[in-house]
Amino acid sequence: MDISSPISEARGISPNYLKKLNKLGVKTVRDLLYHIPHRYEDFSHLVKIGDLAVGGEPATVQGKIVDIKNVRSWKKRMFITEALVEDDTGGIKAVWFNQPYLVKNLRKGMLVNLSGKISLSKKSLAMIGPTYEIVGQSVVSRRSSVVSFKHTAGLIPVYPVTGGLTSRALRFFIKPLLRFTYQIPDILPYEIKKKQKLLDLKTALWQIHFPKTMEMAREAKRRLAFEEMFLWQLTGLAARKKLKKAKAPAVRVDIDLAKRFVSSLPFKLTDSQRVSAWQILKDLEKDEPMNRLLQGDVGSGKTVVAALAALMAVKSGGQAAFMAPTEILAQQHFRTLCKVLAPFEVAVGLLTASQSLKSVSGEITDVSKKNLISETASGLIEIIVGTHALIQKSVSFKNLFLAVIDEQHRFGVEQRASLSARINADINADKRGYIGENQRDNRRESARIPHLLSMTATPIPRTLALTVYGDLDISLIKELPPGRQRIITEIVSPSARKKTYEFIRRQIKEGRQAFVICPRIEILSTDDRLPSIEIGSRNNEIKAEWPTADGRWQNRADVKAVKEEYEKLKKEIFPDLNVGMLHGRLPGREKEKTMNRFANGEIDILVSTSVIEVGIDVPNATIMVVEGAERFGLAQLHQFRGRVGRGTHQSHCFLFTGSASRLANERLKALQKCENGFELAEKDLQLRGPGDFYGIRQSGLPDLVMSSLADVFLVEAARHEAQKILDEDPELKKHPLLGARISEFKKAIHFE
Ligand code: ADP
Ligand code: MG
Repeated sequence: MDISSPISEARGISPNYLKKLNKLGVKTVRDLLYHIPHRYEDFSHLVKIGDLAVGGEPATVQGKIVDIKNVRSWKKRMFITEALVEDDTGGIKAVWFNQPYLVKNLRKGMLVNLSGKISLSKKSLAMIGPTYEIVGQSVVSRRSSVVSFKHTAGLIPVYPVTGGLTSRALRFFIKPLLRFTYQIPDILPYEIKKKQKLLDLKTALWQIHFPKTMEMAREAKRRLAFEEMFLWQLTGLAARKKLKKAKAPAVRVDIDLAKRFVSSLPFKLTDSQRVSAWQILKDLEKDEPMNRLLQGDVGSGKTVVAALAALMAVKSGGQAAFMAPTEILAQQHFRTLCKVLAPFEVAVGLLTASQSLKSVSGEITDVSKKNLISETASGLIEIIVGTHALIQKSVSFKNLFLAVIDEQHRFGVEQRASLSARINADINADKRGYIGENQRDNRRESARIPHLLSMTATPIPRTLALTVYGDLDISLIKELPPGRQRIITEIVSPSARKKTYEFIRRQIKEGRQAFVICPRIEILSTDDRLPSIEIGSRNNEIKAEWPTADGRWQNRADVKAVKEEYEKLKKEIFPDLNVGMLHGRLPGREKEKTMNRFANGEIDILVSTSVIEVGIDVPNATIMVVEGAERFGLAQLHQFRGRVGRGTHQSHCFLFTGSASRLANERLKALQKCENGFELAEKDLQLRGPGDFYGIRQSGLPDLVMSSLADVFLVEAARHEAQKILDEDPELKKHPLLGARISEFKKAIHFE
């Protein structure tokens, strides 16, 4: 047996366990060694039950089991094991789901250690799925904390698990396999390890699973995270370097035209818009492909900046493509472009699953899909707007100079790679039909890549931008246009719900409109630990929650939540008002119809999944209600809030929450106080960690990299070392182990 042997060969792994490990993405011995604890339990610090508080950090208590039994819950279709554990200061309930066999191990009268988070269940303190350790059969004594534990001396690793597979089992599997660590090559060059004070790989792997001290556990994690981060940076920087060598169509930047465009707008550009536009035009002028991210808060006015870039591309003889994640957004972009480009006689087309339209000089007309596609191929349509899916699949261009991608961060590295591949293919195919003064140049070049402008309203913390978008340049729109109003944000507890509904009714009677966003439904595992399970597992179940490339929403539970909320509001709370519903499983036409009815004021209250988080602009909507607000990230809540406050009336954002957790409240308060999306994003990263960070789950980042994103020093050090290696040894000839690992890594993240 060796490091790449399948885990079925390891001791004690039954077919049943094998299936579960596979589900976690663990297939080989190496995978299992890299299945890293997400935290440790410190059994050396015992807390008295009487001192426990709800929420906060997990705690460990020691006490006697005074009662334990299995209950069958028919409603939830599961076994619940309930134990009552007491020490000399009080009692606590411990609850486990679907582990009925526990009553065989844990019996009345035993002295146990329990470790986990404290929550409130039917007015009494409870630990849900705590880790347990049998200490003895004895009665609790005052000196119980000095009892020494056989298996739990000190730090116990807690792993990401899945139903029926416990951390306990994983500890048992992993320990004997650690002797194989010497077979894994340590690819970090010695100088880097020395300079960054990093452990060698073997020590790090031992210490991450069975650390001597918490300090060692941290060092081990830093070592492993550094390696992943370093590989990630190396790959990103190399890609950037390669891209710089490729050829792109140089756009002729006409300053006069730019001035005319700016002065034709009904408003004055903000300073940041000007700077960003300038940076983009400077990039377009070059014959190397632009790869720039335009980042700016909701409503900061990214679209006009992109429109100017597109106008420039078109007027120097090329075409531009706008890609949006949803049909609704594509339509909105289309309308905006038609409007702002009306004075410049640009032919703009819209292509979505349900619509095909075109417009020259601002007038919009119907056109068949087939004609639109062929006019795009022949170059008659100069700017085409659509969803990613359509543009990727069916459209070819005569002469694509610029691709603009809105909210690209929602799409993983994989999609990004396939998108550029697709664009490249188009460009290559197009050269046959290309006529013009650049023709000679084209023949000489083997590949010409269009300029790429990505836009996002998601404030991305700096470390994340450097990591996920290591190959991008970034332009930032820092401020909102002047005159935008402040949105009053309130945290609404269950007792204030009624009063808030009354307030909403009054507002609507005065002619305003409201959004209601339904909570995101998490797919919970019933084992061991709750939320972090999904984050840690490699074959992320949570993926189902994000829209597919054509913007369809997939999580059935979310849709169900919307339907229920819709029924409730329509029948019980606001029977006198017009309530509408929007979710991603509705057909495109239906969605558009509902959206239009809301925009026209026919619908008073629009109940929705988080689909509407991006884009939609309805100035008369002044109320944003978020149900289960604690389940969303701060950045996402901030996006919801940005849907209102677009008109002249005072706007409100109500965060409905039933959570008593201190952390949840702290987060919501941060949102209440802060209006800057970027500050909120940084705060979210610190408070919740990047696992929950909006949109990152699909980014393809390895768990270790994700968990170290909050560490600015680590990210910057890894980037610095990666840049240095690339400068000194671009082909990694002097670092063969590293070179081999990089090719593997690229394959694994679908970079090549
Ligand atoms: P986002 O950055 O969220 O995509 P949009 O481009 O949709 O924002 O712009 C939001 C709104 O602000 C639009 O109605 C747009 O016309 C308007 N807008 C853009 N720039 C300015 C500005 N400098 N001054 C005033 N309004 C602006
Ligand atoms: Mg936008």
